[in-house]
Amino acid sequence: MDLAKTIPVTLLALLPEEDQARRLGPILWTIFAEIEAFFRPAEASGTISIPIGGPPGSSSSASSVATVGAVFSRRFLSNARPPDEIGAGPDEVVGLPPDFDQRMLQGASGTGSSSQPLSSWGEFQSRMPTSAAVGARPVDARLIGAAVHDIAKPSSWTLIVSDLELAPPPSWRYVVWDVIPSGAVVSLAPVDPKYWSEPVQDETHRHQVIKSRTRAACISVVGSLLGLQRCENPTCFMYSNVDSVVRLDDMIHLGPEHGVTELAGRGFDVGGDPRQAASIRTISARTA
Ligand SMILES: [Zn+2]
Repeated sequence: MDLAKTIPVTLLALLPEEDQARRLGPILWTIFAEIEAFFRPAEASGTISIPIGGPPGSSSSASSVATVGAVFSRRFLSNARPPDEIGAGPDEVVGLPPDFDQRMLQGASGTGSSSQPLSSWGEFQSRMPTSAAVGARPVDARLIGAAVHDIAKPSSWTLIVSDLELAPPPSWRYVVWDVIPSGAVVSLAPVDPKYWSEPVQDETHRHQVIKSRTRAACISVVGSLLGLQRCENPTCFMYSNVDSVVRLDDMIHLGPEHGVTELAGRGFDVGGDPRQAASIRTISARTA
C-alpha cells in the first residue's frame, strides 16, 4: 500500500532587532534553503518514501510506505527590512509591531511560566505586566507562537526560528526547541558558542557552529512532522536523546535505520561561508 501526501511547511525567521536581522538573517535564510533541499531531493522529484510500521532498526518489514512531498514556504519577521542579499520576496517579509521585542521581553518576566496558550495578539498584550524594568529573559515558546501566528497568519504548520531564548521546562537549564500548537520554535540562543563561553576561532567559526546546530535541530523537528521516528543513532538527525547542544554537533546525516532510501546518509558539507548554501552529500558515520 502506498500512501501519498503533500505536507505544507512554513519556515519562519523571527529576528526582531535590526542588528540581529542583519547578522543572523542571511545565515537563517540559507539554513531554510538547505532544509528544503534536504527534504526535497531532486532525483526523487521532491518526494521521500517513509516506511510505516516498526521502529527504526527493527527487523519487522514495513507493511506500507508513505510517499511524502513537503512543500516549503518562508517568512522573515522583523522590525527591520531583511538584508537585500537574502533575496526575500515581498510576500515573504512581515513587519512586526514596533514594540514587539520589548513587549515579548516584558511578557517573559510576567507570564513566561503560563501554562495556557494565548489565543491572540490582543490577549498577548493584555497579559503584559506594567513594569518596564525587565531585561532579556527566556520567553515561553507558546507566547512566541501565539504572537507570530496572529501577526504572520501562516496557513500551515510553522517552524519558527528566533534569537529569543526559550523558557525551559522545570528543572531544565535551557531548551533548544519546543513544540507549540501547529508548529515548533527553535532558539538560536543556546546553540551560540558565546552563550556558553565556548572557544571559537573567529566570528566565521562561531557562525558555522550556530548554523550546523540550528540546521540539525530544524531537520530533527521537520523530520518528526513528516513522519520520521526518533532513533538511537547519535550521528543521525533523528537521534532521540538530544540532552545538550553539543549532541547536535554529532548529528551529521540521516541514518540508514529509517529505511528512507532517498535520504539515507544525506548530510551537509562543513566549513565555508555560513551565508552560502552547503552542498548535500552522502556522509558516512564518524568512527570514534
Ligand atoms: Zn536515525
